[in-house]
Amino acid sequence: MKKNIKPRLFSPQKLEINSLWQPEEGQTHYLLNVLRLELNDEIKVFDGQSGEYIGQICSLAKKSCSIKILEKIRDMEYCPDLWLLFAPVKKDKTDFIIAGATELGVAQIVPTLTERTITERIKKERYEAQVIEACEQCRRLDIPKICDPQSLEKILATWPQDRILYFMDETGNGGDIQTVFKNTSNAKAAILVGPEGGFSEKELQLLRQKSFAKAVSLGKRILRAETAVQAALACWQATCGDWK
Ligand code: SAM
Repeated sequence: MKKNIKPRLFSPQKLEINSLWQPEEGQTHYLLNVLRLELNDEIKVFDGQSGEYIGQICSLAKKSCSIKILEKIRDMEYCPDLWLLFAPVKKDKTDFIIAGATELGVAQIVPTLTERTITERIKKERYEAQVIEACEQCRRLDIPKICDPQSLEKILATWPQDRILYFMDETGNGGDIQTVFKNTSNAKAAILVGPEGGFSEKELQLLRQKSFAKAVSLGKRILRAETAVQAALACWQATCGDWK
């Protein structure tokens, strides 16, 4: 890797100019052994709370290094207040959903247990690592929150009434996505995508009873859950979010 392309890492510690930050073991390995950076080389660091900085390697040992924070290059900014509710699927597909949702700018990710969700696949720590890696890669400054898994029933029972919930309805009963998003545009929104086996009839009935929930169609072809997530999020960002 050329040294003039500065690698970008997340620091869980709040940063300020002249402070020192010690990357954790995996990050240190990446900087020193993979990228082969040396003393005085510069990187970009963001902390998810105050913005992004240039840091310089000011000391190093075999398995550790310290970064001195030199200057601020970006002020903090947040993605729109959009949540993703998804039913976990197989490991690599869930990784794709989490990384894509992060790049597409969701503020919160809620693993949602539906009747047909296979629950043993849920690994919150893995999701958190995916989110950080995706933020580092896509230049995002804020880190989306990963919630504990919850049943759809419980989520609906405690839903904040000022947040609109768009559920992706593959039965053909949902409204045209652009029209629904345009006509109901709300700063607080959430997108719900069902599991590989789809929502049960009982779940669809429950969703249809809620005044805050709107059924949305993604066209006449049935998409895989991971494709449906990307399609719905992209459409929302283009219609109501920060792509405008
Ligand atoms: N098992 C279902 C079937 O064969 O009818 C398909 C489920 S689909 C793989 C997974 C989820 O993606 C659905 O529950 C829905 O939320 C979303 N989805 C897929 N295609 C869709 C479409 N054309 N319109 C709306 N939602 C869709």
